[in-house]
Amino acid sequence: MIKNISDCTTLNNGVKMPWLGLGVWQVNDGPEVERAVIAAINAGYRSIDTAAIYGNERGVGKAIKDSGIPREELFITTKLWNAYHDYDVALKAFDDSLKSLGLDYIDLYLIHWPIPARKKYVEAWKALIKLYEEGKVRAIGVSNFHIHHIEEIINATGVIPAVNQVELHPYLTQKQLLEYCKKRGIQVEAYSPLMRGKVASIREISAIAEKYGKTPAQVVLRWHLQNGVVVIPKSVHENRIRENADIFDFELSESDMKEIDNLNINKRFLPDPDKMNYTG
Ligand code: NDP
Repeated sequence: MIKNISDCTTLNNGVKMPWLGLGVWQVNDGPEVERAVIAAINAGYRSIDTAAIYGNERGVGKAIKDSGIPREELFITTKLWNAYHDYDVALKAFDDSLKSLGLDYIDLYLIHWPIPARKKYVEAWKALIKLYEEGKVRAIGVSNFHIHHIEEIINATGVIPAVNQVELHPYLTQKQLLEYCKKRGIQVEAYSPLMRGKVASIREISAIAEKYGKTPAQVVLRWHLQNGVVVIPKSVHENRIRENADIFDFELSESDMKEIDNLNINKRFLPDPDKMNYTG
């Protein structure tokens, strides 16, 4: 049982990654992101999920410095944007992220989307392998990759990603992908774990939450953890940042887990990765 905010999953290269992190998509650079990151660190979070395209790496980096927490106690993820899949361009994009964050290494670097129309994600993966071999990043992975995208990069390079960060929540339970990743030793990480805040309006989840004396968000985050999935809920409000971390003192029953599993309707809030071609 995952019992503590400092509990970690062990990735396929032995690196430890916290089960809970703060997501910062759509959080403004400057005071907004700095306040959110500091609030999270004060609440005990040690993992932050950003991306070059979020435009807030600078603020994340400033908050990390201001927090005074030793760098090695933090786990920082950022992502290679879709326009930068060419090998040399990817290496340069990584250096730019490092500079913006003010760090000398990244804990986890992900290919943000495969962008199948460009047919460049194998090349991008080779660049990430190079960064890993050079010790600039402790673990490399992918995001929004279907099974066939993952198979393709493994077949081309022999290197298995440590993480696949995908949309995953009660309306999109991703059972097949979860099973595949488990077999391959790839840690699944849920983005939009709270269905972008909409979990609060699902009747069945509210009923379960009431039974445990927890909020719908807490129940859903706990459901993810019990499914072996890393979560990175986003909030800019200190009370919610704390609420989302207060999930380590209860355990959902098997039947409640199943009830949430059964809410699946394969609904995505973001595009299907096979149809996503945005590189702007
Ligand atoms: P989430 O499912 O985390 O939901 C965030 C929304 O829910 C915000 O509107 C937030 O509002 C609200 N919220 C947060 N906590 C609570 C709570 N306890 N009760 C009620 N509402 C709450 O959505 P995201 O799409 O932001 O996903 C999380 C993270 O995943 C992102 O920030 C990003 O880091 C990552 N991500 C990655 C993607 C990828 O392609 N790899 C794509 C999308 C996200 P408020 O801030 O006002 O509190």
